[in-house]
Amino acid sequence: MLNAGQLIRKKRDGQALASGEISEFVRLYTQGDIPDYQASALLMAVYFRGLDEEETNDLTRAMLQSGSSLDLSGFPGPKLDKHSTGGVGDKTSLVIAPAVAAAGAFVPMISGRGLGHTGGTLDKLESIPGFQTSISLDEFRRVLGSCGLGMIGQTAEIAPADRKLYALRDVTATVESISLISASIMSKKLAEGIDGLVLDVKTGSGAFMKSVKDARRLAECMVAIGVNFGKRVEAFITEMSQPLGRAVGNALEVFECLEVLKGRGPDDLRELCRELSASMLVLGGIVASHEEGCIRFDAVIRNGSALEKFERVIAAQHGDPRVVEDTSRLPQAKIQDTFPASADGYIRSMDAEAIGWAAMTLGAGRSRLDSVIDPAVGIVFEKKLGDRVRAGETLCAVHANSSVPLPDVKARLRAAIEIGEEPVQVPALIKERIIPASKMGNLARASAE
Ligand code: URA
Repeated sequence: MLNAGQLIRKKRDGQALASGEISEFVRLYTQGDIPDYQASALLMAVYFRGLDEEETNDLTRAMLQSGSSLDLSGFPGPKLDKHSTGGVGDKTSLVIAPAVAAAGAFVPMISGRGLGHTGGTLDKLESIPGFQTSISLDEFRRVLGSCGLGMIGQTAEIAPADRKLYALRDVTATVESISLISASIMSKKLAEGIDGLVLDVKTGSGAFMKSVKDARRLAECMVAIGVNFGKRVEAFITEMSQPLGRAVGNALEVFECLEVLKGRGPDDLRELCRELSASMLVLGGIVASHEEGCIRFDAVIRNGSALEKFERVIAAQHGDPRVVEDTSRLPQAKIQDTFPASADGYIRSMDAEAIGWAAMTLGAGRSRLDSVIDPAVGIVFEKKLGDRVRAGETLCAVHANSSVPLPDVKARLRAAIEIGEEPVQVPALIKERIIPASKMGNLARASAE
């Protein structure tokens, strides 16, 4: 019988835990035989002492095995997914999943909701009238089979240990541990039954990881776990010091994704979707090179097949597919107010996190897990980092359903957007690409600069 107190002491004193100890702890905690106070103490010991690579793999395996995994071996093609660590205006999943499916892969995407300043894929999808993200795993398999993609939320069957541990970490100040974050994310992704995974690790003011150094550590840790589990995986470290694309807010972001799927939309969003999709296609063996992957992405956008995939998955998941052609069927806010530039100059910085909080103040995001969000509201930027502006010129449009939060939202935007006289260099969208050099998780780093 595991002695939880001794296990906590061992980690507190900086010793490595044995594989059996980790799996037993996770098993007993998940079934309620270890109390929250002991799990909290262990999490805090891990937060300070860390886990080595083997312990991190053991924790991932224990959380993965606490629930069921999808068996997609019968699907005739590579099963691929991408995961983003989250940001503001980060909507790439809605373009990438249909594009990669249109190129011949299966994309079983299990995503999360937004919390705090970051948005979540499920909330964006649910802004499409009728769209169901909580279908059963059986129905998910059927949708995947008929459309080549499916997009659902976390189910009770997948990694229940993570669900319980994550809730505890959230209230015990133990979220920000590279090993714990990596094991948490990867246990859920591995349960999808995928062959290949591309990780988009965001860095900058709107990201979880504010510095490139921390983002790189997280990316390397997750890639190493993926390799250890025999998956083809790579990571990108990408820019999140300003919102991605122009729209922040659920239905507004769906509209923007439809624009990209129609061959239009903002350059940064299209570019990031192309890069991440190309890597997925290489990992899945659908194309031989990244360049070929980019060409394939452009082709499925140009010939309309990615858009058609999106339309099909909307219908299959009970949404109204007419939004694709008639975007006025998406929820629309009653008020559209403009926010002007306060001076002539250049946009020198846009605090993405503060912009995320401004959108949340409108009702686009959640302050608590049970908050109800307003799918129509948000902010659409006409100007972004590095743009020249004139005093009084519109920087963004604020879409609201009530005038009550507008003064607060505008104050937040005023503080978030800095205008100065000197032009600035816009940071590269992709900062690094982390590719495992060998099956042993020996990581190579390709600077994109
Ligand atoms: N997202 C997760 O799923 N887990 C974490 O620990 C952090 C972010």
